[in-house]
Formats: sequence, C-alpha cells, structure tokens
Amino acid sequence: MILLDGKKVSNEIIENIKNEIKKLNVILNFAIIWVGNDESSKIYVNNKIKKCEYVGIKTTLYHLDENTKEEEVLELISKLNKDKKINGILLQSPVPKQINIIKCFNAIDFQKDIDGFSNVSMGNLVLGKPYHVSCTPKGIMKLLNYYQIDLNGKNVCLINRSNIVGKPLFYLLIAQNATVTMCHSKTVNLAKITKAADIVITAVGKPNFIKANMIKKNAIVIDVGISRVDGKIKGDVEFEKVAKKASYITPVPGGIGPMTIAMVLENILETVKEQDNG
Ligand code: NAP
Repeated sequence: MILLDGKKVSNEIIENIKNEIKKLNVILNFAIIWVGNDESSKIYVNNKIKKCEYVGIKTTLYHLDENTKEEEVLELISKLNKDKKINGILLQSPVPKQINIIKCFNAIDFQKDIDGFSNVSMGNLVLGKPYHVSCTPKGIMKLLNYYQIDLNGKNVCLINRSNIVGKPLFYLLIAQNATVTMCHSKTVNLAKITKAADIVITAVGKPNFIKANMIKKNAIVIDVGISRVDGKIKGDVEFEKVAKKASYITPVPGGIGPMTIAMVLENILETVKEQDNG
C-alpha cells in the first residue's frame, strides 16, 4: 500500500510557489471574506492566512458580523472586484442563513474567483476551459497525477454531488478519461458500486463510512471527508482496515486538506501569470 501523502506533496508545491513569487517579484493581494463565527471556518481561514504569509501573498481578512446582510456582502465583493490591487477574492463557506451563497459566489469577478465557485468558473469547467478550478477537486487531481495514477478508462465511484466537491470533480475526472459513477444519499446499494470501482473518492463527512468490505482489492481510496470525533479529525474511511486492502490511500489528516490549501495559493499565483500572458 502506498500512502498518498498530501502533506509532503503540498509542501513541495508551496515551496515552488514561494520561489516563483520571489522570482516574479510581484505583489499579490488576496481578500478573504468570512461572515459569522463558524469554528471550522476559523481554522480554515487562519490556515489560509498563515500559508499565504509564508509564500509572500498579502492577505486582508474581512471578518463580518453574524448578522451581516446579503447586500453588505455583495457591496464588499463589488468594491473588491473593482480594486485593481486585489488579485483574488474568497468567500469562506458556510455563511449565515440570511445570505444566499450562490448569489455571492456569482458576484465575484471570475478572474478573481480563487475558489472557482461562480457560475462563470463552473461553466468554463463544464465546457473544458477552466480558469480557476475549485481548490479541493483540483488538489485531488494534483495528488493523483503526482503519483502517476492513470485515470484513463478507470471506473471511479465518486460519493458526493455537492457544488464544491462532487460536481467540479466529476468534470475533471471525465476530462482525464475516467468513467465516473456519482453517488449520493439516495443511491441504492452503494456498496455494489464502490466494490466495482478502481478508484473510490468519498466526501460524505461520516467517520468509518467506507469499510474494507466495500472496496475491491488494490482499489485506490481518496478520503475527502472531515469529521471531528473527540477533538480529533477523522475522514470517511475506516483507515486501518481499508489500508490493508487498498493499493493507494490518502490519510486524514494529511491528505486532501493540505492539497486544498496549496491550490488556493496556486490559483492566486495564476492571476498574475494570466495577466502577464495578456
Ligand atoms: P455536503 O454538501 O454535505 O455533501 C455530502 C455528500 O455526501 C452529499 O452529496 C450527500 O448526498 C452525500 N451523502 C450523505 N450521506 C450519504 C450516504 N449515506 N450515502 C451516500 N452519500 C451520502 O458536504 P461537502 O461540503 O460537499 O463536503 C463533504 C465532506 O468533505 C465534508 O466532510 C467536508 O468537511 C469535507 N471537505 C473537505 C475538504 C478538504 O479540503 N479536505 C474540502 C471540502 C469539503 P446528498 O447530495 O443526497 O445529500
């Protein structure tokens, strides 16, 4: 079994980004909008700021009150869209109930849309011409490609159909010639599908959801799920047992999480490369 070491790979990517920013001698400004006080978001936002600082990206955090109105968020996005100094904008999810997140994502200028969640970014991805690809799906693809896992003709069982994971990932996988079965909570006999798959990608958010008897021998298992159990971070996969049967597997933590952050940095850097290319 080979561990798909997202921590190691992301560290390499981050070092390369740091060197490239130095070489290009550019100032990169990144705006993060965080509305409310969600505990997980606090960790994600702080991690992004820390990594940005490390590579030399200047980050401004707009931490807005839990009761902020949708119009105020839209106004801020509009201001940041117009600000030529700002390279990238990211709206941290989840947002409080009074805010329509899809409307806010769509308000972000697609060239500054670091998370790639706007309708333009998603449309570009569906049509095969992505500008900024969503960071978690992009991180999964980078990790698979780093370990030279050939997706051509492979059967992939993808358990998630959300806008931020499953949908963008589906298009990235088929672009590399995988045959994808997209599963969700209404899927009947999930285990039959996972067992037939060469690659199982799970993003459900339930610990021990994927058990060893649900995968075939030598399957590749990608665990995107994050749950907190007794203060510890857990994935969807019953790791110890599944690892004995799998050919490649991601750990949690240390798998897709760090790859996601590295892709945030990569998408910010892309904004200057694209500007340079005219
Ligand atoms: P989400 O919108 O809640 O999606 C969960 C998906 O799992 C849905 O498609 C849901 O189906 C499906 N599901 C739930 N119960 C199921 C069951 N019993 N059988 C089959 N499918 C089932 O969450 P998300 O935002 O996409 O995130 C998913 C997980 O990934 C979470 O644990 C999140 O923390 C994690 N995540 C990790 C990263 C990272 O960087 N590592 C990034 C993003 C998300 P329905 O559509 O039918 O509800």
